[in-house]
Amino acid sequence: METLLDYNFYISPSDMIEYCFCKRFIYYMKCLLIPQFEEKRYKVQKGRNLHEYKVQSNVDYLRKRLKVIDKRINVELHSQTHRLKGVVDEILFFEDGTASPLDYKYAKYNNFIYNTYKTQMTMYALMIEETFNVKVHKAYIVYFLSNNKLVELKITNRLRDTLLNDLSKYQQIVSGYFPPKTASNKRCEDCCYRKICIM
Ligand code: SF4
Repeated sequence: METLLDYNFYISPSDMIEYCFCKRFIYYMKCLLIPQFEEKRYKVQKGRNLHEYKVQSNVDYLRKRLKVIDKRINVELHSQTHRLKGVVDEILFFEDGTASPLDYKYAKYNNFIYNTYKTQMTMYALMIEETFNVKVHKAYIVYFLSNNKLVELKITNRLRDTLLNDLSKYQQIVSGYFPPKTASNKRCEDCCYRKICIM
């Protein structure tokens, strides 16, 4: 039986953002347990303050458009099967018995969905399916800086396969595999591990 301590080793959407940033970053942080210095770290986490903003949002009219029959907010989720954990902004339940995660992003919509967002939403989808025993075919993202634009993401088999593959690689790194550095040298400029990282 899993304990609360075990959940510390579960993978969260935030962990996967860091994995997408640089796999080696995960090695230093999660395998060697070298603490990171948040204020010097890369700049992809602006959305962390979003919770302060989303309370100001009102997307009820969008929920009506989607024929939502029930919703839950700030839901803590786990998947024992995939060893995932996270808190999703909202879960929408539909007339047809399916459900979807909805997440707020303090960002503009630039006509495409970033892979990191796709990864996160697919993680939520897997956790919702396991927790609520429902199917998840779609996820929704609300872009705060684009006038609360609601964008739909289909949770395809391809997205699921990609995520499972990445989770497997993540576990290998945590278990001691030293991965190659990021392909983007620019990312190293702001990285707190740049002084110890073998280039
Ligand atoms: S210095 Fe560059 S390669 Fe090394 S962990 Fe940081 S981002 Fe990755």
